[in-house]
Amino acid sequence: MTTHVTKLSGAHWVRRFDSSSNTRDLSGMFRYAVEDFIAAMTAAGIKVSVSATYRPLKRSYLMHWSWRIVNDGIDPSSIPSVPGVDIEWVHPTTAASVNAAREMVEALSIRRLRTKPALRSQHNAGLAVDMSICWRGAVSIKDATGALVQIKTGPRTGMNKQLIEVGATYGVKKYYDGIKDVPHWSNNGR
Ligand SMILES: [Zn+2]
Repeated sequence: MTTHVTKLSGAHWVRRFDSSSNTRDLSGMFRYAVEDFIAAMTAAGIKVSVSATYRPLKRSYLMHWSWRIVNDGIDPSSIPSVPGVDIEWVHPTTAASVNAAREMVEALSIRRLRTKPALRSQHNAGLAVDMSICWRGAVSIKDATGALVQIKTGPRTGMNKQLIEVGATYGVKKYYDGIKDVPHWSNNGR
């Protein structure tokens, strides 16, 4: 049956539950905190590229389980179903199931993630942002109090300790668990 084919896991599932990469889709005051922080970075000559803001819960489900099939060797037949996601994780062969999950991991841009994506995250509430950040040389950036902070230390990325402190003054907190989720910032560091 053709309906069965469309239910089978694979990259086509990724487009059904799109996430946003626009800061306008963030919630309440967190949106303005992120926009102010990004504006301060941009004014300092720091290059910022936002890859995700709001993410539907159903996309988090696809991320979690496809990543776990590929990286944890989870048996696809043991994956619980959720309402509204009529996906069939089990293909005729184990190799086909794993290949389809790998396609999804690629399409979801989570191949380099070193920890399993959470089933629920601050993204689902519009309270997290993923961004890649880089610069050259030394930069001076305004924190939320208006004080100018000169950053001479490395790395020249979102993992920079001084930049993380500046972000916190805006209410944008770096992910608590270090390099396990490099681009992730949120309202509470989770
Ligand atoms: Zn994130």
